[in-house]
Amino acid sequence: LTVTFEEAVFGAEKDIVVTRTGSCGECTGTGAKKGTRPERCAACNGRGQVTVQQGFFSLSRTCGRCRGTGEVIKEHCPACAGSGTVREKRPLKIKIPPGVDNETRLKLRGEGEAGRGSGPAGDLYVVVTVEDHPFFARHGQGLICEVPITFSQAALGSEIEVPTLAGRKKLSIPQGTPSAREFVLRGEGVTVINSHRRGNLVVRVVIDVPKKLTKRQKELLAEFQQTAEDSPSPASRSFFEKVKEIFG
Ligand SMILES: [Zn+2]
Ligand SMILES: [Zn+2]
Repeated sequence: LTVTFEEAVFGAEKDIVVTRTGSCGECTGTGAKKGTRPERCAACNGRGQVTVQQGFFSLSRTCGRCRGTGEVIKEHCPACAGSGTVREKRPLKIKIPPGVDNETRLKLRGEGEAGRGSGPAGDLYVVVTVEDHPFFARHGQGLICEVPITFSQAALGSEIEVPTLAGRKKLSIPQGTPSAREFVLRGEGVTVINSHRRGNLVVRVVIDVPKKLTKRQKELLAEFQQTAEDSPSPASRSFFEKVKEIFG
């Protein structure tokens, strides 16, 4: 059963149709024509087994006439040809609890195949497949979202808007934030199934380098580059010092 990302996160009710082997309603699963009942097998006297004498030994074997059931049907039920079961299409409503993930198995009690004779029906298991979301990646109950920011937002610090399950939220980016820095928004992830606990949302900011610049932007960045060379950052200084050590 495929559900959307939102249905998996918030829960939903889905209509499905299952084809299953159900108990025949016409004969209530006995296989005998309406108004009649299966009769006791005369060959085995209803025991399902017959005893054969072989010299000094007597052997028991399954009765060939009733195939071990101990009963024979004189007149077969026309609806199920005496099998007691019919194939039926059954519409079902499935409650998807909030927090289901890929491969989650939902159990629908008593909606499986009919039992033999008039025994109870088995359970039906539905395996969930969750569709991807355009910007939330799911890891269990945790969510990861990559948000592009500009170099100047990262360098100067800024307040950005990030998407959460509850809509947009403001996030403060501190001055000097490196690319791929992760910010954890506690409790903004997916509900843990059958509980009120929630996972976290991790926002990963990625510095977006512009492909096109205006003339003015180029001038400003060239000027910035000049000052950066005059006073290199500690990381850049230690890197180029190491290069110097090795290559001379
Ligand atoms: Zn029947
Ligand atoms: Zn028999």
